Amino acid sequence: MADYNVIVIGAGPAGYVAAIRCAQLGLKTACVDKWVTLDGNPSLGGTCLNVGCIPSKALLDSSHHYDFMQKQAAAHGIQCDNLSIDIAAMQARKAKIITMLTTGIASLFKKNKVAHLFGTAHLAGDKQVEITAQDGNKQTLTADNIIIATGSVPVQIPVAPIDDHLIVNSTGALAFDSVPKRLGVIGAGAIGLELGSVWNRLGSQVTILEALPNFLQMADRKIAAATLREMKKQGFKIHLGANVTSATVANEEVTVTYEDKKGSQQLVVDKLIVAVGRKPNTESLGAAELGIQITDRGFIQVDDHCRTAVPSIYAIGDVIGGPMLAHKGSEEGIVVAELIAGQKSEMSYETIPYVIYTSPEVAWVGKTEEQLKLAGVEYKVGQFPFMASGRARAHGDTSGMVRILADAQTDRLLGVHILGISASELIAEAVVAMAFESSAEDLAKTIHAHPTLSEAVHEAALGVDGRMIHA
Ligand code: FAD
Ligand code: NAD
Repeated sequence: MADYNVIVIGAGPAGYVAAIRCAQLGLKTACVDKWVTLDGNPSLGGTCLNVGCIPSKALLDSSHHYDFMQKQAAAHGIQCDNLSIDIAAMQARKAKIITMLTTGIASLFKKNKVAHLFGTAHLAGDKQVEITAQDGNKQTLTADNIIIATGSVPVQIPVAPIDDHLIVNSTGALAFDSVPKRLGVIGAGAIGLELGSVWNRLGSQVTILEALPNFLQMADRKIAAATLREMKKQGFKIHLGANVTSATVANEEVTVTYEDKKGSQQLVVDKLIVAVGRKPNTESLGAAELGIQITDRGFIQVDDHCRTAVPSIYAIGDVIGGPMLAHKGSEEGIVVAELIAGQKSEMSYETIPYVIYTSPEVAWVGKTEEQLKLAGVEYKVGQFPFMASGRARAHGDTSGMVRILADAQTDRLLGVHILGISASELIAEAVVAMAFESSAEDLAKTIHAHPTLSEAVHEAALGVDGRMIHA
């Protein structure tokens, strides 16, 4: 008999969720993770809780409050004289949130009887995992099934080597102890825009260099253009089509050289964040040696049920590619746990929401207009501006819009794209509607509370048939 029914490798949002669901289903489960905090303690939650989703949102919230006090409080009749920032206190708040959540997972493991094993895992066979502890001690455990959830790490580029002082990746950018006067960011993806926003709000002059000629390539074009306008209004300098050729450090400054359509340019900054994507983490895992297929880009190859080429081994989360999002990995974890327990379970990749936590927020689900055009699908558009929303006006933030794309013949929802305050929350309604294959008419017939931001979604749905009331 094996030591465990399931061993999960990695305790990020994919792995820890998979482990808990396996245990709920009566499977004897262990979860191995090697993450250590700066003070050498094991920590659960992976990238997401330790150096990703949660710390970035903690700093986005803190910096949002500061920005509000500076720029908008007076309009509410609130005077904030002698406003100042204590970065150490802001970072301590962030650290406390991380600790509460990571220890919370340890409690969930205890409650669900998931064994937490600390160390680096190596696949020693199709049903064997060798775990090396911090002191070098090794143990080999057996399991009927293994789930690989080893996540991803930041991509490095040779032209801008990380020195963890002036040139940093996302982890370094979450830990600045003062506000850099001039901040450069390579990459206008989710990380570049979110962490750029944190430090921009706190007073940095932020310049972003993006290689692609289009801003937010994956998003709806109108939403992307409006987001770019909003960010420029906030003082961001964003250079598209910028090909970085070098970044050199001297006299506590970084000189970045890049080429764009105007020729060779230079940017001098106090800190430089490299945020050019993340790559799958399969280092010393031994997956290929077991016959697990690895793609050209290093991702573990799986079928549409997260099964690798080895029948007892599954893989989920960032390490298998697709959108590198915590909620995508978590859902794969649930699906795989249920499959292992003998249940039927499917992953719905069509309705994964995307959110970028800029100000205003960007969120979408489903297809963009460009994708529909490319696929030759005829569609109708309903678009409602937050300018016409009473609640957005009361909030004092009327930027952005809701855009709904519906099939021209069947009226079925094909995509919902939002730029605006609380877009991250508003998108959930669209996800549910799309998951239930609703039509724009279904949304239009749903009564929305007044005054709420969600009325903008309702109005956009009415707009699909030219029936908007307030615009
Ligand atoms: P990870 O979270 O990377 O976890 C993998 C775990 O595996 C790690 O704990 C690692 O220690 C462990 N591990 C790896 N190899 C081994 C081994 N051999 N043995 C033992 N353990 C091992 N996504 C969102 O959806 N929303 C956001 O707002 C968001 N914000 C982000 C902000 C930042 C700054 C960053 C960097 C990322 C953000 N992401 C966000 C992405 C999100 O963090 C990832 O998609 C998510 O963490 C992937 O989960 P995972 O479980 O697949 O891998
Ligand atoms: P990304 O893939 O989102 O964006 C990287 C950007 O860098 C792209 O626009 C790319 O064109 C650009 N780029 C690549 N090489 C470059 C170069 N040499 N010079 C200039 N630009 C270059 O990656 P990211 O922002 O690093 O984020 C990593 C992952 O983490 C993403 O997959 C993202 O989904 C996830 N993440 C999600 C959230 C969220 O859901 N809110 C937040 C942060 C991170």
